[in-house]
Amino acid sequence: MENLTLANLVDGELREPGTGAYLDVFEPAAGKVYARCPDSDADDVEAAVAAAGRAAPAWAALPAGERAKHLHRLADAIEARLDELAREESRDSGKPVKLARSVDIPRAVANLRFFAEAITQWPGESHVDARAINITLRQPLGVVGCISPWNLPLYLFTWKIAPALAAGNTVVAKPSEITPFTAFRLSEFAIECGLPPGVLNIVHGLGPKVGQAIVEHPKVKAVSFTGSTRTGAFIAEAAAKQFKKVSLEMGGKNPAIVFADTDLNDANLDTIVRSGFSNQGEICLCGSRLLVERSIHDDFKRRYLEKVNALRVSDPNDATSDLGALVSKPHFEKVMGCIERARQEGGKVLTGGNAVNPGGRCADGWFVAPTVIEGLSQDCATNREEIFGPVVTLIPFDSEDEAIAIANGTDYGLAASLWTRDLARAHRVAERIDFGIVWVNCWMLRDLRTPFGGVKHSGMGREGGADALRFFTEPKNVCIAR
Ligand code: NAD
Repeated sequence: MENLTLANLVDGELREPGTGAYLDVFEPAAGKVYARCPDSDADDVEAAVAAAGRAAPAWAALPAGERAKHLHRLADAIEARLDELAREESRDSGKPVKLARSVDIPRAVANLRFFAEAITQWPGESHVDARAINITLRQPLGVVGCISPWNLPLYLFTWKIAPALAAGNTVVAKPSEITPFTAFRLSEFAIECGLPPGVLNIVHGLGPKVGQAIVEHPKVKAVSFTGSTRTGAFIAEAAAKQFKKVSLEMGGKNPAIVFADTDLNDANLDTIVRSGFSNQGEICLCGSRLLVERSIHDDFKRRYLEKVNALRVSDPNDATSDLGALVSKPHFEKVMGCIERARQEGGKVLTGGNAVNPGGRCADGWFVAPTVIEGLSQDCATNREEIFGPVVTLIPFDSEDEAIAIANGTDYGLAASLWTRDLARAHRVAERIDFGIVWVNCWMLRDLRTPFGGVKHSGMGREGGADALRFFTEPKNVCIAR
């Protein structure tokens, strides 16, 4: 069997971990180990931070346009291997190759190009009065840390690294140990593209060892994290002791609210289905609570279930696969446990609720059928806690006020989607729901200039556009007397 050994990127070269230890990396669709990644520790992080520190002054001093060229070169390298990387991302995470090919890898390219262009267009601030001219410098922080999760591996990794580098920082980054492969490929591209040594360092390994060492390192000036709320809380606490800047993108329990006046044409219904089950429901933005106005509920349910039943769970390599495997055995067991808990809470499983065995090479993979559950109270654990799998609950409502109360009835506040033809209602509801992102008659339609992030337990700070560049820089006001 193929067994690949990954390496860290430190000071411009691929390095084994100092520990000599490795972690197994699984192919979720096959349920088998196919690679191993460094099980690094604080010493590897120390070496990476030292390299990043040495590289920082020269990188910060480069004109923005030169840094942008480096980012474009990395984007070119990824773009040139679109098919190869899509297959690798799929093998590592279980997602359908067609999704990685159409979403994950193109978005990684877009992230790098977007911030390459953004930094060359970023205006400075000045404030003038009769006494003085104030110029606000935006200086890079130095060495920053980027920690990312497994659900959109290269997509989210580059979403952090690109603005950090564009703004003139050097980076020590840690991808998820569950899906390290495309981050390793990015290491190879950084060397191939001539990114100066130490500008980007990638250290693989476990969160409590490598991630924590990055967060606690006094020379790491800021940490951008995407992952679970639980880990975000650890990071916030550890960083607070050093008054370190943190940006936290965390979990969600997002509502999709369908009002009776919605134009339920086929395309809209497809988007509503996709918003629950895309990437096996393993997207922080997935709408896992589907609120439907009672007057259309039964008709909606019939049409919705027809579409959900038509989704194909299969080998992610199949061109027709809609859902691949869940990312890991523990996550598969967690999701199956959540479905069992929903049953115990009195939920009725309308479709799915079971593991799927696609057979052949996927006989031992971690596949779950798209699952729709109804009959649960809005305050049960199923409707309040993140499941992060292909599980959607159907919840009827009678009035706008009730829909808003249900939508707001969780500790999370990442994203919501509203479906209505009534523009006044869309404005009203969007203002009253506690979410960082509200989509109206669409889902996951992203403009990279917009602030991205959540409120409550879903996030602290915003990514995207100028927000990301502000996060990765320190303002310094210089007041010049006239
Ligand atoms: P996770 O919190 O387990 O891990 C995320 C990253 O943090 C990994 O790289 C992990 O190794 C690292 N980590 C773990 N413990 C750490 C510690 N003590 N110190 C420092 N780093 C540590 O999350 P996950 O299971 O990989 O990802 C799924 C979660 O991510 C879900 O909750 C999902 O909603 C969330 N997510 C949020 C967004 C968003 O934009 N808000 C996007 C994608 C995923």
